[in-house]
Amino acid sequence: MKVMNWFEGTTQFIKELYGSSKFIPLHEPRFLGREKEYLSGCIDSTFVSSVGPYVTEFEKKTAEYTGALHAVAIVNGTSALHLAMIVAGVTAGDEVLTQPLTFIATANAIGYTGAQPVFLDVDRETLGMSPESLLSFLESNAVVENEECINKKTKRRIKACVPMHTFGLPCKIVEIASICNAYHIDLIEDAAESLGSTYDRKHTGTFGKVGILSFNGNKIVTTGGGGMVITNDEQVAKRVKYLSTQAKVPHPWEFFHDMTGYNFRMPNINAALGLAQLEMLPMFLEKKRELAELYRGYFEKEGITFVKEQEKAFSNYWLNTLILSDKEERDNFLQYTNEKGVMTRPAWTLMNKLPMFQNCITFNLKNANWLSERIVNIPSSVRI
Ligand SMILES: *Cc1c(COP(=O)(O)O)cnc(C)c1O
Repeated sequence: MKVMNWFEGTTQFIKELYGSSKFIPLHEPRFLGREKEYLSGCIDSTFVSSVGPYVTEFEKKTAEYTGALHAVAIVNGTSALHLAMIVAGVTAGDEVLTQPLTFIATANAIGYTGAQPVFLDVDRETLGMSPESLLSFLESNAVVENEECINKKTKRRIKACVPMHTFGLPCKIVEIASICNAYHIDLIEDAAESLGSTYDRKHTGTFGKVGILSFNGNKIVTTGGGGMVITNDEQVAKRVKYLSTQAKVPHPWEFFHDMTGYNFRMPNINAALGLAQLEMLPMFLEKKRELAELYRGYFEKEGITFVKEQEKAFSNYWLNTLILSDKEERDNFLQYTNEKGVMTRPAWTLMNKLPMFQNCITFNLKNANWLSERIVNIPSSVRI
């Protein structure tokens, strides 16, 4: 391993930031508010499962916070994405545009419907879908017929587009939304990592037909496991709630289900935890911004690229990100820091390199390929 002279200082700097010489994880949850109080309240009420006041309250507070008109709590972010695909009308044989630099859930959710993901390039600055790549793919491959977008080569319908706000950094969502609009493609935002992140003061996940959030243990706010569908469309929200509750036709006592639904509701006990966590979000955001600022200052001095929010974007800085010079430096840094007890991680393997998706359509993934060899995430937990 070739140890660069900045590795040791950086490891030291991170340990000092967290005031600890012990193992520094990538991202730990913090329970500093009313978590125990709400969890006890939930247990005392006996309503720990799929209905209860915490679910309703958590949905209401999430809608208020994000500015979405409706929010439906779901058992996890992956299932929320799956339902988002279904309510957007994605069906088997469709194509869905997305980015290859993402967590597996994005591509899997497309796969569950029987649709094919199409992988477009990302921007080097936002790490999210590139509007140029999207437009140029559509200009050379798509035609709009009867208000539907059709891939001229495969003859398949291009039903939806799923950009992701990578590590909490908002992508160029306004441009993406306007391209989708022009081509009659539904916009589904994977905002799993970007609770608290906005673009032009509008919360990520609220620019298209439907968006999703995740409350997994490693996200900025956690319910243990959980997710949320957010939307401004009342019909979409109703449909998501219905599909997530076994497609039960509402009735005070009768059990009647008129299609094959899902058991994707968030349990009340998870919502109780989520409600307390959501109250802490403003403080988390402040602390994360402060940490990102310290990192930015440090890495700028070292001449290392620290990924910053772009113009009009406000990032939650969920996971702080470096872009190193090449794969070799990246691999050496990962080995050095992890051996020294500072947890760092590379970006995900690009989706188009995985066995399930290796035959999917890709469109000039220059930046995605370049980034995937150079990205490193560094410890980003809220400091206490
Ligand atoms: C976390 C995450 C999800 C959802 O994950 P769950 O663990 O199912 O909540 C979806 N997409 C991305 C990009 C994520 O990071």
